[in-house]
Amino acid sequence: MLNLLSGRAAKAHYHGGMLAVHLENGAVATRTVPVPERPPGFALLRLMAGGICNTDLELQRGYYGFTGTPGHEFVAEVVETDDGALVGKRVVGEINLNCTHCEWCLRGMGRHCPNRTVLGIVQHPGAFSEFFTLPERNLHVLPEGIPVERAVFTEPLAAACEILEQVSIPPHEPIAVLGDGKLGLLVSQVLNAHGYKVVQFGRHMDKLRIAEGCGVCVEVTNGSLPAAEYDWVVEATGSPEGLRLAAAMARPRGTVILKSTIHGRVPVDTAPLIVNEITLVGSRCGRFEQAIPLLDHALIQVEEMIAARFPLSQAPAAFRKAAERGVLKVLLE
Ligand SMILES: [Zn+2]
Ligand SMILES: [Zn+2]
Repeated sequence: MLNLLSGRAAKAHYHGGMLAVHLENGAVATRTVPVPERPPGFALLRLMAGGICNTDLELQRGYYGFTGTPGHEFVAEVVETDDGALVGKRVVGEINLNCTHCEWCLRGMGRHCPNRTVLGIVQHPGAFSEFFTLPERNLHVLPEGIPVERAVFTEPLAAACEILEQVSIPPHEPIAVLGDGKLGLLVSQVLNAHGYKVVQFGRHMDKLRIAEGCGVCVEVTNGSLPAAEYDWVVEATGSPEGLRLAAAMARPRGTVILKSTIHGRVPVDTAPLIVNEITLVGSRCGRFEQAIPLLDHALIQVEEMIAARFPLSQAPAAFRKAAERGVLKVLLE
């Protein structure tokens, strides 16, 4: 009840407008804009915490020709919705706003709906504002007792879980994870929590230590990587070199799962892929149903990835911090 009052009171208070982050021509600013209208079937949400991810930094650099409010990793409180039972609840939300009636939506694959918009990425204002909207069907109520600073990792955890939905890796088969950035650390933690033997390769012991603390074997590479040793390699380097390096680690008939979204073209020598009959699997975002139970899992140590927390009003400083070398997750609150 308290939450409900705080949410509604908050909205009334913001009649004069709300704070929203605005990206344009490489610059990050905050603006005062009207509180968004809630279309039928949508919920009006109040941001509790948002996570800045590499995609947000790429939007800032102007990829996808983006101008507007970014933000797709969030925890929020429901302020207004058709379903009164949701009001006051803490929620996380799926970021793809799908059409619900195309071939892909009818197959339960709304993440591939050709008519979709995407929260904070494609034609739907993002979560880095005091209030924002999402369809009710996108929302998942958080279990009690999950702290906001863990729950804010639901979306990237779901992206890590997507791997296990796409490929079935036999238990006990070792998996190599290449890269020790945010996504690499989440992938190794998720696979490890599912009981796989995971070896993570990266350049930074200070980052790898987070995965090591969860029981992942880690190796600092300094340029040399194992050759043709793994049937399963996850590429999460965020670098154009990643595909070539990951493919060289895979055994003949092995599978390389590509998690890095790289802008621009990656030159690929296809000969090693063909000669070794390597399967390439592109992998993007995943279902929240798989990720939410992991928020409660002892082997998922996401909080250690938080480098800094800023109020929404200091978004420009938060984006600068997130872009610094070696910085993992920066939160907006
Ligand atoms: Zn993201
Ligand atoms: Zn659709």
